[in-house]
Parts: sequence; C-alpha cells; structure tokens
Amino acid sequence: MAKLIKEPFWWESAGRPHPTPKIELPDEVDVVVVGAGLTGLTASLFLAKAKKTVLVLDKTTPCMGASSRNGGMIGGGHRVSVDLLLQKYGKDLASRLLQEMHIDSTVFAKELMTAEGIDCDFQETGRFQAFWKKSDYELYARKLEQLKGLIPVQAELLNSADQKNEVASNSYHGGISYHLHGGINPAKWVYGIKNSALKHKVTIQGDTPVEKLHFDAGVHFVKTPRGTVKTKEVLMATNGYTPTHFGELSKRIFPIPSFIIVTDSLGENRVGDLFPGLKMIVETRERHCYFRPSPDRKRIIFGGRAAMFKPPDRFFEAQLQMLLGGIFPEIKDVGITHAWWGKTGFTFEMLPHVGKLNNVWHAMGYCGNGNGMAPWLGYKVANRILGTPEGETAFAEIDMPTKWYYGGLPWFLPFADIGFRFRDIYSNIQNKP
Ligand SMILES: Cc1cc2nc3c(=O)[nH]c(=O)nc-3n(C[C@H](O)[C@H](O)[C@H](O)COP(=O)(O)OP(=O)(O)OC[C@H]3O[C@@H](n4cnc5c(N)ncnc54)[C@H](O)[C@@H]3O)c2cc1C
Repeated sequence: MAKLIKEPFWWESAGRPHPTPKIELPDEVDVVVVGAGLTGLTASLFLAKAKKTVLVLDKTTPCMGASSRNGGMIGGGHRVSVDLLLQKYGKDLASRLLQEMHIDSTVFAKELMTAEGIDCDFQETGRFQAFWKKSDYELYARKLEQLKGLIPVQAELLNSADQKNEVASNSYHGGISYHLHGGINPAKWVYGIKNSALKHKVTIQGDTPVEKLHFDAGVHFVKTPRGTVKTKEVLMATNGYTPTHFGELSKRIFPIPSFIIVTDSLGENRVGDLFPGLKMIVETRERHCYFRPSPDRKRIIFGGRAAMFKPPDRFFEAQLQMLLGGIFPEIKDVGITHAWWGKTGFTFEMLPHVGKLNNVWHAMGYCGNGNGMAPWLGYKVANRILGTPEGETAFAEIDMPTKWYYGGLPWFLPFADIGFRFRDIYSNIQNKP
C-alpha cells in the first residue's frame, strides 16, 4: 500500500507554498499586513493598487495557513440561521449580511479570478446542503422561503427522491441546492492572489512572526525577530492562526480544527454514480461533514470536524473514513491517499467581522467559510483603510464580542467536543428513516 501523504492534495498540482526571497525589512511602510492568506493578500493587492507601500508578514511560509489547505468549496451563507440574524440585527442589517455572504462575496471572487487571470480550476457546480434529520425538510423549507423573502438567492428545495440525483446516499432526507456555489483548487486561488500582489509591488516576507505591536503618537511599531517596522496602519489577517497573546483580538477569535482525507482514484464513473449532480456537498448535521469530487472527478475529497482540538493523526483519519463509509457504504473499504488538517477561525457571534481594536485593523472569523468571504472582507478592509466608500460592509456594523471565560487560550474546546459527541448520538437517532 502506498504511503499516506500528510499534506494537502491541492499542493500536488499547485505546488507547495514557497517562500519569497528574503530581503532586508524596510524601516517604514504605509501598511503592515500580518498574515499571508486570502484575507491579507487580497487586502495588500487593493492597497498597492491605491499606491500604498505594503509589507505582508507571515510567521511561516506565505499561503501555508487555511487558505491553501481547505476543502475548495466556494460560496457562503448556507450555514447561517436567518431567524437568529433577524432576531439579533433586524431586517435591514440581517438582509445586508446575508446578501454579502450568499451573493456579493462569491460574485466578487469570480470577478477577481477573471480580472487577475487566476486559473484555480473553478467549476460552477453548485452546492447541495443535505438534510441529516427527517424533520430538517420542513424546517429548512421555511428557512429557505424566509431567505428568499430577504435576498435574491438562487436555491431550490429537493425532496428525498430528488436528492438522490445530487448525492446517492440513504443518509439524507432531501436538501437544498445553491446554484451560485462552486469548487476550486484553493492553493491555486491563494497563490494567484499572491502573484497579483507581487506584480503590484507588495513586499511579502515569510518566516517573520509579528511578536508585538506598540502604538505611540499615531505610529505603530511592528516588532519581529528581524527588526521593527514603523507604519501608519496595521491589519491583522491571521484568522484561525491568531496568536493567543494579541490582547483584545485574541479574546474574540478561537481556532477550530478541520480535517480532510482524499480517497484513492475511484474513476469518473463511480464518482459520477455517487455524486450524480457533481456538486459540493455539505450536511445539516451539527458537526457536519463536507465532501466533493476532486476537480478531475475521480476521487472524493472528504472533510469534517473529527474533533474540536487536534487529536493524533490516526484518530482523525479513522474517524473520517468511518464517516465516509457511513454515507457511502459501498466504498467503506476504499484506501486513502492524503490526510491533513488546518485551523478555521470562529467568533462567538458565528459571523466574520471587520473593524479596528486598539487602533489595529482586523478582518477574520469566517467560521469555516472563507474562500469567498476572506477575499471579500480583505477587499473591504483595504478600502476602509483607504477611507473609500467601497469599504462599506454590514460586517463592520456588528459586534465581535468576547466571553468572560476566554482570554485567548481555547481551553473550553475539549469540553465542547464531549458535548458535541453526545449531541451527535441524539442527532444520529433522529437521522433514521
Ligand atoms: C481544513 C479546512 C477546510 C476548509 N474548507 C473550506 C471550504 O471548503 N470552503 C471555504 O470557503 N472555506 C473553507 N475553510 C476556511 C478557509 O480556508 C478560511 O476561512 C480562509 O482560508 C481564511 O483565510 P485567511 O487569510 O483569513 O487566514 P489563513 O489562510 O489561515 O492565514 C492566516 C495566516 O496568518 C499567519 N499568522 C498568524 N500569526 C502570525 C503572526 N504573529 N505573525 C505573522 N503571521 C501570522 C499564519 O501563519 C497564516 O499564514 C476551511 C478551512 C480549513 C482549515
């Protein structure tokens, strides 16, 4: 049996993230961006287009974070509760949040691919949200009507029989098909944005962790092991990799790991039998699985929250294999070729946020849905820094609260993990026909 590759499948065709040549850090720039992923690199691109001098710093190799190691599904909003948004924010703000998540961010991402000539194997496949519980059908039918009353989302409800034309599994009870969504190779996506930023003279430096920020008389001093850089503006674009010691920001974002495996080649016919609609699939199950055909449609890329903290590799690989076999019993013994994981960034509101804390900008908290939203909010925060009207976003109008028990170290996740495992047992009982 071939050795299991413990790196993202995407890197095989896109190449591993590679460092930019090391140069001496400048003494002073207009903006320092911390984090070279989709958020930071998109922000840097639009800042540079507006003639700002920009330095992007990353503690590891640029693009090594979640952006090049995710599931490659693009399109958002499908996991957000419309009821909750209406309750918390009222109709106007809720509608604008939903409009940005469901429509604007995806449209923006597609336009950016075209404008910058980024070939990231984009396929507008649509996404199917598969209902885990029988009672989900009625619940989500009502949610979809409610959503359609607020924004012009292109989506349709399917019953159990029609669901088999999307995903041929007896595990589900119908679902919703979202048309605007699609699939990409996420590594090619983030490398494409990085290359555009480099073309616009952004300086990107890896292996340069930002250790400390100090603000004095309108100037930031950004401390790294390679020296201190002076700047007028700092953007934190660190999402799930935000260090635990960055004061107020670290108390508002927490990392949840997500895990992915890839099957041996099953061939196009077999994958086509299991995914007749060739869509991206996500479940309504609380600790949900997300899965899709590979871009060549020969393998299955299967992800899930196998645990709320990083367990030993063998544990999450076995968990995901078991979950895959539960959904498609006919391939329960299929081999896996790749297994890897990464950190998603969650906020307590379960929504992303753009803003400024203690004079430092941030854009983060995509809650596992950043391929469209991270470039979108990167673009928005760049425009907020520039003070242009394009910076207007509903995600700057909501709060990014902390909790009294959270100081930046997510000690509560192992306990949450136990809670979710009990809830899984209950929801598995409700899953039965
Ligand atoms: C396994 C997995 C599957 C996912 N699947 C999907 C999916 O299918 N669809 C989807 O839309 N989203 C998905 N996501 C979420 C998506 O990948 C993220 O929301 C998105 O990539 C966030 O981009 P970012 O630029 O904000 O952060 P990242 O790409 O994570 O970049 C943050 C960077 O900050 C750097 N950093 C941290 N601290 C410092 C410091 N002190 N100094 C300098 N640099 C620092 C890190 O090194 C890192 O490179 C998934 C995430 C994971 C982990």
